[in-house]
Amino acid sequence: MSSPEKTVSPLTAPVSSVWGVGEERARLLARLGIFTVEDLLLHQPRRYEDRRKFLAIRELKLNEPATVRGTIIAAGIERFKQGKRAMFECVFDDGTARLHCRWWQAQPWMEDWFTVGREFLVFGKPDSLKPRNIDHPETELVEPGEDEFVHVNRIVPVHPLTEGLTARVMRTLVWRALEKFEREIAEPAMGRVQSDAPYQGLPARANAVRMIHFPEELTDVEIARQRLALDEFVALQFQIQSRRKKFEASAKALSCGGDNRLMKPFLASLDFKLTPAQTKVLKEIRTDLGGVHPMRRLLQGDVGSGKTAVAACSALMALESGFNVALMAPTEILAEQHFRNFTKWFEPLGVNVELQTGSRKSGEDGGLKREAGRRVRPSILHPPSSIFVGTHALFTAGFDLPKLGLVIIDEQHKFGVAQRETLVRKGNYPHLLVMTATPIPRTLGLTLYGDLDVSVIDEMPGGRGEIKTFVRMTEKLPKVFGFIREKISGGRQAYIVYPRVEVADTDKDIKAVTKEFANVQRALAPFKAGLLHGRIKSVDKENVMADFRANKIQALVATSLIEVGVDVPNATVMLVENAEHFGLAQLHQLRGRIGRGVHESFCILISDAQHPEAQARLKILEETNDGFKIAEADLKLRGPGELLGQLQSGVPDLRFGNLAGDLNLIRQARELVAKIL
Ligand code: ADP
Ligand code: MG
Repeated sequence: MSSPEKTVSPLTAPVSSVWGVGEERARLLARLGIFTVEDLLLHQPRRYEDRRKFLAIRELKLNEPATVRGTIIAAGIERFKQGKRAMFECVFDDGTARLHCRWWQAQPWMEDWFTVGREFLVFGKPDSLKPRNIDHPETELVEPGEDEFVHVNRIVPVHPLTEGLTARVMRTLVWRALEKFEREIAEPAMGRVQSDAPYQGLPARANAVRMIHFPEELTDVEIARQRLALDEFVALQFQIQSRRKKFEASAKALSCGGDNRLMKPFLASLDFKLTPAQTKVLKEIRTDLGGVHPMRRLLQGDVGSGKTAVAACSALMALESGFNVALMAPTEILAEQHFRNFTKWFEPLGVNVELQTGSRKSGEDGGLKREAGRRVRPSILHPPSSIFVGTHALFTAGFDLPKLGLVIIDEQHKFGVAQRETLVRKGNYPHLLVMTATPIPRTLGLTLYGDLDVSVIDEMPGGRGEIKTFVRMTEKLPKVFGFIREKISGGRQAYIVYPRVEVADTDKDIKAVTKEFANVQRALAPFKAGLLHGRIKSVDKENVMADFRANKIQALVATSLIEVGVDVPNATVMLVENAEHFGLAQLHQLRGRIGRGVHESFCILISDAQHPEAQARLKILEETNDGFKIAEADLKLRGPGELLGQLQSGVPDLRFGNLAGDLNLIRQARELVAKIL
């Protein structure tokens, strides 16, 4: 099924080859993404019911979900006084007691379906025992017939359904598909190594498929799931690793190892020494840049760990070797910040630094200092080598960088993987360094970036002030603003972040920058506040940032736009309102804007969220500053969706594998495939 071989499996036959699937049902199944027999066989049940022994209605316990079997003795619609809304109610009897079931929105079909005398299986959670009552139960009509053994006297699956397709019909179809096609479920092509460690103790694939639908014991379900997940991870690793192999076979590296000519004076000019972690990572990069294959490396480092300095050193290696370098940032603000830094660092060394963003090119007039008339015209550029800093506009059509040796992508999570590849292919296989502050838990790293080597800066530069984090309710805001005024009076600056640009009609409780800005100005007067969000014109954004950097503005009122990369060491307060509307990883990124100088910093998260889970999430930030711990916790609490959403990259489509929990399986799959290849 997940076989990389190209032989056509009978399982790819349309689902209509299962007896009982006509045009109408095929249409309904398609709504669930089921088109082939294989799709149907891999349609994972959402829960199971143990129907080996039913509870008697008399045995039902309050709030404990259970399945009973009873015959309808009364049923009907009850209208409420005002008229429009109606409730449907019916009463089941199994000889031991009666059970009332209610649906608060009567549907037209109910009266015809729940008729007196019909027998049903009823699943739900009793909310009262006097009388016994279940609201909105799941039900299944009992139609004694030849396939009755599929539906009772066993543990049965309840699959994800769609309107018009009942649990019973779905179960029947899956059963028939198994009967007809089970023999065709082949072991993956790597089957010859199935005595290998990860497969030991797990059932054959065909058995696993049957077990996931019709387990003998509930404990079988997890075993079957692991087997099917393993197949997914192996297939995925196969894809990733063979792509990498192919790449290495076809691409020849440009020799960019450098000779320290520029590096030495650069390091001497910095007002800090590289941390051991930065040095270690640079060694790895230098080895790659001088190696036979083009570098494909992911550099992970928590916010503030000093990735920019590493990028600068890597760039110098390529520049020393006579190649040009491209540095790409996800936002204009960030591109300009980099441009400013690199100009300061590199121009004294005789390196050309150029800016190219969507709205601006170097040479055009604007807030940035630079010589006039130096428009980028790369085609006529000659040594000395240049570094081009920009947004993705760097790589738009017509802008071809000559002699491109190294591409550095900063804050990778804003670029997709596909985008990454097209970018790099513009050049003649330049080296690629991708930098991210999103702490990617190992599970995700191994699947998402299996084709990249990984370097980690696992240590922060010293001499930084501590960051203290507090979660507070809205009622504390006046005190919080008092605190911010105090810090500003002491010479520091603050970020104040809201989830929205504008207040939405649907959700007036979520605060927006455009509305709160005036309040903040009033609360902090005579100190100055600036406004920053995505809909502000680039030039204005730049001016606001410049004013903030120069401390002409003491408070920056912004959306999460400032979450990546912005570096103003004098800012020591981060206030986030409606904090529950941000992901944990995102809040951690925001918090990374402070604690960059020697002063003590404060992050205040305002949230009135009542939900214990929301509170628990925010508490994690109070407890730890470690981005990896936070990302792992977020992954556990919210699943991979949130984090992956930020990564916006080729997130694998897994039915059985769980990126948050299957680290062991993923690792085993990776090792196995490496061995095979
Ligand atoms: P990030 O990894 O989040 O991109 P930056 O590269 O913006 O972090 O670095 C954060 C701050 O730390 C910058 O002001 C930078 O100059 C400073 N920095 C970088 N490396 C060191 C170091 N080894 N020692 C002291 N400060 C450093
Ligand atoms: Mg950065």
